[in-house]
Amino acid sequence: MSRLEDIRPKAQHSVFDLAEQAGFDVTDWIESSNDARGHKANPKYCYEWAFVEPERLIILNLWHPAMHEIDGRIIAKDNFRADAEYHRNVTGKTSWAKRAKRLDDALQIALRGNLPVRVILIDGIRRSKDDPTLTPSSVRARELDPKPWTIVAYDWDTGEFELSRGIFDQPCVDQFDLDLADKVAVERQEKLTAAFVRDPAVRRRVLVRSKGRCELCGNEGFKMASGALYLETHHVKPLADGGPDIEENVVALCADDHRRAHYGAERDHIAEQLAAIAAKSASNRHGAKSKKNVIEKEDPHSRRVRVQI
Ligand SMILES: [Zn+2]
Repeated sequence: MSRLEDIRPKAQHSVFDLAEQAGFDVTDWIESSNDARGHKANPKYCYEWAFVEPERLIILNLWHPAMHEIDGRIIAKDNFRADAEYHRNVTGKTSWAKRAKRLDDALQIALRGNLPVRVILIDGIRRSKDDPTLTPSSVRARELDPKPWTIVAYDWDTGEFELSRGIFDQPCVDQFDLDLADKVAVERQEKLTAAFVRDPAVRRRVLVRSKGRCELCGNEGFKMASGALYLETHHVKPLADGGPDIEENVVALCADDHRRAHYGAERDHIAEQLAAIAAKSASNRHGAKSKKNVIEKEDPHSRRVRVQI
């Protein structure tokens, strides 16, 4: 079975449930509802083809049968701006023209804000463009794709776009793709991470401990315009997985190694190395008594700490 076939939607969920699942704020959807069938049928939302959660994400309803698989990548190509014009000028279906226009607008908002694109996959009988009776499409299955999609091409002059499933499924990625992936992760873990406030003193002590060198590769962090050395602090066991916010669980890494620790093919191996490094530096800290240039003081959590001066 092809990868495209693997994601063919089978269940019939409501647009409301899927939009909420994707992270869309459904407050107004519920509050502005006056439909006798309940808020899920609120016509202000439930027939829309796109949803925008400002500065966080967009959600698009896309037909699975219109997608393609090219070299293992799943692609959706279309042009909703052209659709909007067609309905405005040819069919006279202004409601469809408006929905198509809003989908095109959503793509532009996502591009301007580098926002994740979530896709509600639809299967069923798709309306034929040339059908003079304008019979609406009939949806038989509707599911939220668990993977976010990437806008790989968008023509600002015409509205033609190409989406590709996944963020890291392209041959090469850059910092904006990482930023997108981070936004998706934050969306998923929002409730979890909101509870964590990192102790600034832990980060500071780890930076002091590193003496400006990456604790994995030993290279000095790059020198900033201010003259400071740049390193990134990293929790060996993530806070979201129950990792403690203590020096024994935090390392200072160069920017490259930090990304590798999160996204590299060898990240499991790196995690083992970092756990050993963090444990070793912690034991050095406890073992090195009355060294020169080291003072001891009581910290507010009554733990003995050393501060290098
Ligand atoms: Zn490094």
